Amino acid sequence: MSETHEFQAQTQQLLDLMIHSLYSHKEIFLRELISNASDALDRLRFAGLTDAALLPDAELGISLRVDPEARTLSISDNGIGMTREEVISQIGTIAKSGTAEFIRQMKQSAPGEHVDLIGQFGVGFYASFMAADSVTLTTRKAGDEATTVWQSEADGRYTIDDGDRDFAGTTVTLQLKPVDAEAGLADFTDEWVLRDVVKRYSDFVGYPIRLFVEGRDEQPEQALNSMKAIWTRPESEVDEEAYSEFYKHVSHDARDPLLRIATRIEGNFEARALLFIPSIAPYDLYHRERANRGVQLYVKRIFIMDECRDLIPEYLRFVRGVVDAEDLSLNVSREILQQDAQIRAIRKHLSKKVLESLAELQKEDPEKYLKFWAEFGPVLKEGLLDFEEKRERILDGMLCASTESGSGLTSLADYASRMKEGQDEIYYLTGPSREVLAASPQLEAFRARGVEVLLFTDPVDDVWLQQPPTFQDKSFVSAGQGDVELGTGEEKKQDAAQAEEQANDFKPLVDALRAVVQDDVKEVRLSRRLTESPSCLVRDEGDLSPQIAEMLRQAGQAVPAVKPILELNPKHPLLLRLKEVHEKDGTDPRIKRYAELLLGQAVLAGGGQIEDPAGFSRKVADLMVEAL
Ligand code: ADP
Repeated sequence: MSETHEFQAQTQQLLDLMIHSLYSHKEIFLRELISNASDALDRLRFAGLTDAALLPDAELGISLRVDPEARTLSISDNGIGMTREEVISQIGTIAKSGTAEFIRQMKQSAPGEHVDLIGQFGVGFYASFMAADSVTLTTRKAGDEATTVWQSEADGRYTIDDGDRDFAGTTVTLQLKPVDAEAGLADFTDEWVLRDVVKRYSDFVGYPIRLFVEGRDEQPEQALNSMKAIWTRPESEVDEEAYSEFYKHVSHDARDPLLRIATRIEGNFEARALLFIPSIAPYDLYHRERANRGVQLYVKRIFIMDECRDLIPEYLRFVRGVVDAEDLSLNVSREILQQDAQIRAIRKHLSKKVLESLAELQKEDPEKYLKFWAEFGPVLKEGLLDFEEKRERILDGMLCASTESGSGLTSLADYASRMKEGQDEIYYLTGPSREVLAASPQLEAFRARGVEVLLFTDPVDDVWLQQPPTFQDKSFVSAGQGDVELGTGEEKKQDAAQAEEQANDFKPLVDALRAVVQDDVKEVRLSRRLTESPSCLVRDEGDLSPQIAEMLRQAGQAVPAVKPILELNPKHPLLLRLKEVHEKDGTDPRIKRYAELLLGQAVLAGGGQIEDPAGFSRKVADLMVEAL
C-alpha cells in the first residue's frame, strides 16, 4: 500500500536548515547512518539472547555499496529493522521534544556552530540530506515478513510503500548531490574517501563495515574498521581523537568531551569502564525521563543494553560511556540488574571514581573545573540528597557565590579559611538570583561584622539545605531564618542582654503593630540582623522555603501556607519615632498605616511581591504628600 505523508512543519523546517547548513564536514552523515546501523545490530543481538530464531545465519555486519555511475551510496545492516508503524513514528516525524528548541538555536547560531547542534539534538538520520537529494530507506523488522520503503526528497513530503527484502534489517540509499569540495561534499562514491571517513569516525564500531563497489566486488573485502573495543586497548595506544569519536558515538553529542575517565574493577569480579563527561549539558538534562541516556552495558565485549540507569546514580546522569563486565550473565534483564549485587558494586565504584576524577580536575585545572561546574554543578548537588553517597566529596567540590566572591565563586574550604574568630557555622542565603540575595536586608548584620554569607541560587539548594550535611564539622545555618547571633562569646552575651532590654522597651509598640498584620505574618519581633533597613521578613526555624513549598504544591501535595516573621530594626529612626508616637497616643491612626507599610517594604526588599501593589503605592503617595 502506497501512501504519501506530509512532514510536520517543524520537521521540514529542520530539514531546510540542515540542507542549507554551511557546515563543511558533511561526511558526518555517514557516521550517523553507521551509528544507527550499529545500534540496530546491537538490538538484534540483544533480542537474540532470548529468541535465537531472530538471529540471521549470516554474520552481523554493515555494508556500504557504491555505484559511481549512478552516484548512489547505500548503507545496509542486518539488524533489528523497523515495522511500518515504527518507520512512520521514528523516521517520518521528529517527535522529539527538543525539536523546537533545536530550530530556535540553529537559527540563532553561526553556521560554524551548526554541527554541534546537529549532534546534540540527535537529528542523526536527517543528516543524510546534507549529502543527498533523495533518500530511500528499506526495512524489515526481525521476526516480520513485511518490508517497508520510506522515500523522500525533503520537499515537504515522504512516501511509504510496501517493498521486498530477503532478510531483516535496514538499507538507506542516498542519491548523492554533485561533488562540491568547497561545500564539504567529497566524492562519497570514492573508495578512498569512504575508507578515510570510516577509519576516522567509526573504527571502533563492533561490527565489520565492508565496502562493495558496483560492478567490481561481489566478494566481501576485508572490513574497513578494526572493530577493536576501544576500552580494552591500552590508553597509550589510542589517540585522543579516537576516544573523541567513540564518545560521540555513544553520547550522540557532536562536541569533544570535557573529561575522560578509564577505570578497572578487579577482585571478586572484573569489569572495565570508559566514561566521559560532556563539555556542555544536554538540553534535556532536567527532563529526568529523557536525560539519563546513561551508560551502555557490555558483557565480555557483547553489547547488552543502552541507557543502563542502574550503573550510575541519578546525580551523575550526565556521565556517558561504557561498562564491560566479565562475570555477568548475557541474559541479564533490566529487572535483574536492579537487584544485582555486582551491578551495585560497579555503581559504587564508578561514582567514587567519577568524584575522584573531578576532584583531581579541580586541583589540576581549576578553569576547566569551573566550566564543568557551570554545566553540571546543580545536578551534582542532587547527590547531597543521597545519604548513601559520599556527601563530603560533593561538598569538597562544590562552588558557590558568596558575599565576598565578587562575580566569581568560592569553594567551601576557602570559605572556611576566611571564617571570623568566634564563627563556627557556615552562613548562607537561598533565593532566585545572586543580585536579589546580595541586596537582601537579611544580610545587614553579617555585612556590618564582616561575616561572609554563601549565596545559593539553584532550586536544588533549598532541597539539600533542608537536611544539610556538615562540612569540616561546621553546620550550615540560614542567614534568613531564625534568630542570628554573631560575634565572639563575649559579644554574643552583650547582644543578648541588649536585645532583652530592647524587647521590653518596644513591647507595647510591637504588640500594637502585630495586631494590625497578624493575619499575614506568624510573628512580629525585633531584629538582630538589621542595621540599615527598618524591616525585613525571615522564615521561622524549620519552616519550608517558598521554593520547596511551591515544588511540593506542584507535585500535588497539600502544603499549608507558611507565614513569615516580620522583623523590625529597633535602631532605625522610623521605629524610634513610631515608639514615641505610640507612647503618646496608643490609638493614633498612623500606627496602622505604618504597620502595613513596614510589612510591604519588607516584602519588596526580600524580592517578593505584595498582594495589593496599587493600594501600597497609594499609601506611600499619601505619606509623601503629608511630608512635603
Ligand atoms: P537517533 O539515532 O539519535 O535516535 P535518528 O534520527 O538517527 O536519531 O534515528 C531515529 C530512530 O530511527 C532511531 O532511534 C531508531 O529507532 C530508528 N532507526 C534509524 N536507523 C535505523 C536502522 N538502521 N535500523 C533500525 N532502526 C533505525
